[in-house]
Formats: sequence, structure tokens, C-alpha cells
Amino acid sequence: MQQLTTREELNSFLSSARKQNASLGFVPTMGALHAGHAALVMHSVEQCDFTIVSLFVNRLQFNNPEDYNKYPVKTREDMALLESLDCDAVFIPEPEVMFPAGYSKIELDLNGLDTKLEGQSRPGHFDGVVQVVYRLFDYIRPDKAFFGLKDYQQCMVIRLLKKKYFQDISLEFLPTIREADGLAMSSRNARLSPAGRMKAPVIHKVLQAVVSLSRHVVARDALKYARHLLARENVQVDYFELVHADTLQPGQDWFKKGKNVLLTAVIIDGVRLIDNEIF
Ligand code: AMP
Repeated sequence: MQQLTTREELNSFLSSARKQNASLGFVPTMGALHAGHAALVMHSVEQCDFTIVSLFVNRLQFNNPEDYNKYPVKTREDMALLESLDCDAVFIPEPEVMFPAGYSKIELDLNGLDTKLEGQSRPGHFDGVVQVVYRLFDYIRPDKAFFGLKDYQQCMVIRLLKKKYFQDISLEFLPTIREADGLAMSSRNARLSPAGRMKAPVIHKVLQAVVSLSRHVVARDALKYARHLLARENVQVDYFELVHADTLQPGQDWFKKGKNVLLTAVIIDGVRLIDNEIF
């Protein structure tokens, strides 16, 4: 596996892949890799001739500086995992490689995604995601890029970015990988206390309870009940909402099958966790 840190190293890897007329898969990450990231890399390796993964903790997408400072960095372990997955290259740029002096900011109309749910709770977050993913796509120009549905709203943002700037890149959104007890894998889980970790599977349990309830009660009542179940466990609910899978418009009642998305963000022990259920 090649380790690339500069644009020159990256370009030399890319030109040798292109000379072989090979297809290139790309998985952007912020590192501290787990089985959710591994699933994306495995899909890329299965589908593309070459796979490149980026490890870059993007300061721009952290609205909370404390969250940025506490974000885990485990480059050595990440490299070992990627090596074992037969990944071809890992791109680990310094901030000045991603954002050189005088770089121009990309404008993208996020169609209201930046002002609701994650966007509302984390002002500037999606703009930060757009700035870094635009630059990674522009540097790498992969044939295919892989993202996790765990970050559902982010997938919608990436879809808008592709539509406006990168129509040649095909996107694949893959299902959320979970711990055995249902907790969605996340680099942030490591920050939970033992008691918080014990409590955290309630997020997925409540999401699933709402899916079951959807066959019996109206959406408004199911959502209210879900918020109650979480509060009863002393889980602080930032939001727990039903939206339409394509428009992200809130649902007063259930949508048709496959178009319901429950999106939630909660805080357990000061750690903010997100999850969702599509049904
Ligand atoms: P991150 O390193 O958190 O920026 O995530 C990098 C990519 O991995 C994003 O596309 C995430 O949606 C995806 N991802 C993170 N956690 C999971 C998970 N539990 N299951 C599937 N994909 C995930």
C-alpha cells in the first residue's frame, strides 16, 4: 500500500493507475477506522481495480473546537487495517495540502440541508464537508466514491455536490454497520464512559421500536413516544424526526414504504451520537 501525503505523490499514484486504464474507487474518512469504514473499503476493493482511502480530520466541519481537539487519531492502526484490506493507497494530507493559501471556497446551494437537523444543530458543518470533499474529488477524480448511510444527511449533501460539479463520479451509499448490541459504529463511541456505552444501544432499540409502531399508530404519536423512551433513560435528545427519504421534508404521517427515514441525534455523557433507520 502506498502512503501519499503530497499532491505530487498523489498525482504520481493516479497517473500510474490511469496508464493501466484502471478503475479507481475512493473512500474519504477522518480516520480512527472501524468496521463501518472497512465495509466501504471492501466494497471499493471488490468493485474497482484500485482503491484509495483518505485520512483527514477536517477542522472545517467541526463547529465545536472541543469536539475537533478530542477527535481520535490512530494513523498506525488505520494503516494496518487498510493494509490488511488490500487497499492500494492511503492519502494523508496536511491541512495546507487540502487548503493551500489563497484557495477558493466552493459555493453550493444545499437546498436547506444546512439549516435543518444536523445542519441546524451544527452550523457550518455541511459547508465544511462540502469544502473538503470537493477538494478531495477534484484532486483524485475517482470513478466511484463510497459513503455510509449512517451519515444520511451527509449522503444527500454529497449527492448535490456530485450533481453540480462531479457528474462523472458515481456514488454508492452503503448501510450502517453496527456493534452486536445495535449501536451504530462510530469513532466517537470510544469516548463513551462504560456506563454511557451500556446505555447507547437504546438509540437503535428506540429507532426499531418506531419502525414496529409505524404499523399501528400515527407518526406523531410514535415520535413522541420515542422521545419519551429516550428521555426516560436520561438520554438527551437533540432531535428525533421522521423525514422523507428524498426531500428530507418532515412527515406529519408515515410515507410510503421505503421512503421513511427516522433521523436522530442524542447526547450521552457529553458525546453526541447520530443514527437513523430507513424503512
Ligand atoms: P468519518 O470517518 O466518520 O468521516 O466517516 C467516513 C465514512 O464512513 C462516511 O461515509 C461515513 O458515513 C462512513 N461510516 C461511518 N460510520 C459508519 C458505519 N457505522 N457504518 C457504515 N459507514 C459508516
